[in-house]
Amino acid sequence: MIEIENVRKSFGALEVLKGIDLTVAKGEVLTVIGGSGSGKSTLLTCINGLEPIDQGRILVDGTEVHAKSTNLNQLRRRIGIVFQQYNAFPHLTVLENVMLAQRKVLGRPKAEAEAEAVRQLNHVGLGDKLKVYPSRLSGGQQQRMAIARALAMSPDYMLFDEVTSALDPQLVGEVLDTLRLLASEGMTMICVTHEMKFAREVSDRVAFFHQGVMAEIAPPAQLFEAPQNADLRKFLAATH
Ligand code: ATP
Ligand code: MG
Repeated sequence: MIEIENVRKSFGALEVLKGIDLTVAKGEVLTVIGGSGSGKSTLLTCINGLEPIDQGRILVDGTEVHAKSTNLNQLRRRIGIVFQQYNAFPHLTVLENVMLAQRKVLGRPKAEAEAEAVRQLNHVGLGDKLKVYPSRLSGGQQQRMAIARALAMSPDYMLFDEVTSALDPQLVGEVLDTLRLLASEGMTMICVTHEMKFAREVSDRVAFFHQGVMAEIAPPAQLFEAPQNADLRKFLAATH
């Protein structure tokens, strides 16, 4: 379970998260929508401790992310994060890219890391690209490699930050299918996305962020069909 309690975060004079309260249960799929600059990415980077917070606390399975005593490296192993663009190591094959962090961070023996990499690459539909270099992959395939790389670390949680927004439209579907598969398997996920149809289909709940505030959170049917918040109504009208 991820528990976010009254989290505030500023960059200089700009308050980006203005007291966020949110709990994500094990197995839940939460999508986060909202305009540019509303604090969505910042929330994700605070959850895995990449960014410090100014107030409040974030607990991951009871461990306080920003407590001095918390071993952040250990915590981050349990939280996979995939961004808009993934910088693969160009001189390593797809298989080697997916093995690397398992070897370096988890200290997995080579054979075990390789078996897990093959398993996860098959899982995301890249079983035929093991020996290929990343530059030979399409954007959608590169994103699926990034997802396989994160999954190979055996995380309990996955955070996705607009993983399809840098892709050509015809490549978006294959990456969303991979996320749908993970959701159907019970992975606990927080997905920041601009894909409203996807959010509607896979989410247990959808959270709308506006200017650093979580202005509304509800199951998708309710949030999309009967939005309560005026800013959410404007946002939805503009995205349709
Ligand atoms: P988008 O949809 O464009 O990705 P977002 O909701 O993810 O937007 P954030 O990236 O969380 O928005 O940014 C929230 C605000 O914080 C923005 O005004 C941004 O300029 C600012 N910000 C983000 N990161 C930093 C940083 N490292 N230093 C200073 N300001 C930052
Ligand atoms: Mg963002």
